[in-house]
Parts: sequence; structure tokens; C-alpha cells
Amino acid sequence: MIVVMQKEATEADIEAVRERLTAAGFDIHLSPGVARTVIGAIGDKTRIDPASLEAMTGVDKVVPILHPFKLASREFHPENSVVPVTEKIAIGSRAFHIIAGPCAVEGREQLLEAALAVKEAGATMLRGGAYKPRTSPYSFQGLEEEGLKILAEAREASSLPVVTEVMDPRYLSLICEYADVIQVGARNMQNFFLLRELGCVPKPVLLKRGPAATIEEWLLAAEYIIAAGNPNVILCERGIRTFETYTRNTLDLSAIPVVKKLSHLPVIVDPSHGTGKWALVPAMARAALAAGADGLLVEVHPHPGQALSDGPQSLTPANFAAMVNELRALAPVMNRDLA
Ligand code: PEP
Ligand code: MN
Repeated sequence: MIVVMQKEATEADIEAVRERLTAAGFDIHLSPGVARTVIGAIGDKTRIDPASLEAMTGVDKVVPILHPFKLASREFHPENSVVPVTEKIAIGSRAFHIIAGPCAVEGREQLLEAALAVKEAGATMLRGGAYKPRTSPYSFQGLEEEGLKILAEAREASSLPVVTEVMDPRYLSLICEYADVIQVGARNMQNFFLLRELGCVPKPVLLKRGPAATIEEWLLAAEYIIAAGNPNVILCERGIRTFETYTRNTLDLSAIPVVKKLSHLPVIVDPSHGTGKWALVPAMARAALAAGADGLLVEVHPHPGQALSDGPQSLTPANFAAMVNELRALAPVMNRDLA
């Protein structure tokens, strides 16, 4: 359940509610809002009478939660969450952020070229996979720690914060040394042990939607991370499996307004994995901005024809720059600022 405190509630009122819920065995998550504090309580509802809770001093109302996710729900946190990445960059605010870069870090030259090009075009963050287990064990598997070092060098050179994927909890602390945002790939969305570990790291998490996950399952995956202690979750729609074969996945743009209604978490869109074809990326990027997304994750490669992974869906730097210019024209219509 969720306990919404009155605007005038004092610290002592909040503490009294917290003590009562804790004594009844509830797990408490406090959300101090601008106007009022909201208390999320997870536990056995039969152990407390909501009406008596509502009668406590400073309590406005007690809201039962109908969704299985609580901390990720809009009821728990009525205002949009803004996830801080660096001092200047936060996802979920008016600023529309574009995270761009190659699918995989393939080498120093490739990543530095990509980083400088996407920065020049207007990207505010750099992406690149260092750990890339693929469908086939014989495909390129990523440069691993060497790739992380190259990402750190590209961050220095471009001053763009870096997003990279963690595949396995065993590599999490190493990746945290290098990355500004930790990506959870679509195939790992329900790796619950990994999600729990991500609750304990001091970095924002970019959580991709699983290829066959419902929106509820996706928000429950976010709930794992938040419940384990990390509120800084950015959702990323990247397409789901359907019967359609023309595109690599079916980009579910309707997920954006649905997530915005159900949750306070920011949501970004990956039109590259969502379509699998670079020529479709700009149209889907514009649609994502128009549908209310908080940003994009886009694959850009200096030479897509030579890419070791996902070349067919990667934009060239010139195509990326043209796409960003189109988005720049659209952004003010949607009340968004684009770097
Ligand atoms: C990626 O972003 O490089 C990636 C592997 O994406 P997904 O997990 O969405 O397939
Ligand atoms: Mn990729």
C-alpha cells in the first residue's frame, strides 16, 4: 500500500507512520516529494487496518496498490523521476538525451572516431558494448576489459558519459569502475540475481525491455532494482518479438504512453534494435520523441559495412547528424530541449 502524507505533515508524523508500519513487519520506502511525502509499504496487508492508518495525524490517504509493482508505480511517486547521470546530465527532465555509439567497442580508433562524431552531431552520451556474447559462440564476443579501457579513453576525449552493458554479476564491480550508466540487455531483463546486484551499485541502470516481456514484467524487473536500493532506473523500449519478419523486432511505441501512465520512471527508445534496419531508424526516432520518450539509444558506426556486430542497423555519422537535425526541429513542438 501507499501512504500519502498531508502537505502539513511533520517529521514526527512521518516517523510515527513509519514506526507503526515497521512494527507490523512492512518494508518501508520513503519518497519525499516537493509538496508531500509518500510512503511505500510492502508487506502483509492483513497485519494492518488501512482505515486506522488513515486516522493517524498527518496522513492524507492510504492507497491500495493494484499493480504488482509498487516502487516503480506512479501512485508511489506521482511526479516524473529524473535520473541523474552526471552533474549536467539527467534523464527524465525537459532535456531529450541521445545516447549514441557503436554496438560493440571494436578498437581504439573505431570508438574514438564514433565518439567524436556523435558528440559533434549532438549526442550527450556514448554507448558501446565491451561484453558481447552473441547468438553464436563463434561470433565476435567483445574486447571485454580492454573495451572498457577504450570506453574510458573515449569519455576523456569526448567528455561524453559512457553507457555499457553488464551481462553477468561477476563483472559488475569492474564495469562500475568504468561506466557512468550500466545497461541491462534485453536477454537479461529477467536475470533476477543480476537485477538485485544492480540495486546495490551507485550508478544509474538502463533497463531494456525483454524481447518477449509484457510491460508489467518489465516494470517488475525495474521493481527488483529499486527494491534492492537503487531508484535510478531508466527504461528502454527496444522492440519485441512478433510474427512480423520484415523488421528485426516490432518497436512497441505504444509502450511509451503506457509506461508514462503506470510509472514515474523515464523511458527511452532504441530504434536500432527495434527495427534492425538503419533506414528505418530516423522515422522511429521522430515517432519516439513525438510519443513522449525521454531520449534515444542509437547505434552509430563510422563504417557500418565493416562493423563486427549490428552493421545493418547502424547509422553512419552523417546519417546520424541528419537525424539529430530533424529531431531538433521537432523537439520544441514537444516541449523538449535537444542539445
Ligand atoms: C545492445 O544495445 O547492444 C543490445 C545488445 O541490445 P538488446 O539487449 O536490446 O538486444
Ligand atoms: Mn547492437
